[in-house]
Amino acid sequence: MRSCVQADEVIFMFRDSSIIRWRNYKDRYMLVGFECAACGKKYFEKKGLCPCGSTEFDEIEFSGNGKIVSYTKIHSGPEVFQEQTPYCVAIIDLVEGARIEAQVVDCKYEDLKIGLSVEAVFRKFYKSGEKGVIHYGTKFVPKF
Ligand code: ZN
Repeated sequence: MRSCVQADEVIFMFRDSSIIRWRNYKDRYMLVGFECAACGKKYFEKKGLCPCGSTEFDEIEFSGNGKIVSYTKIHSGPEVFQEQTPYCVAIIDLVEGARIEAQVVDCKYEDLKIGLSVEAVFRKFYKSGEKGVIHYGTKFVPKF
């Protein structure tokens, strides 16, 4: 007979906890990415293999500053984003060199352009479940 609860059981019991969610989403809440330990190339999403051949990566936190590479307006997005539709999404090159896709807010679609400087902000993503749990994450705003 065990005298205590195992760590994986705690995570199962509290899998809907905002604290567990916070710890599992460094990319969403802290803009954490990865840097190749061999060549220094930076990625927002975790890679198994860098084009240089390395499989070693270190976590890095990005500044949140970048420029728009491409953008579009979403008219028919996922159900959880229906209350925000239409909304703007952009591909952004962060100043550190990584590329990220993110929602751009606090502006009109007509204000966006390729090369526009943007910065990361912490905003509401969507509500879920019967209790309307609010999920937060990183979006971007223009730096006019
Ligand atoms: Zn590399």
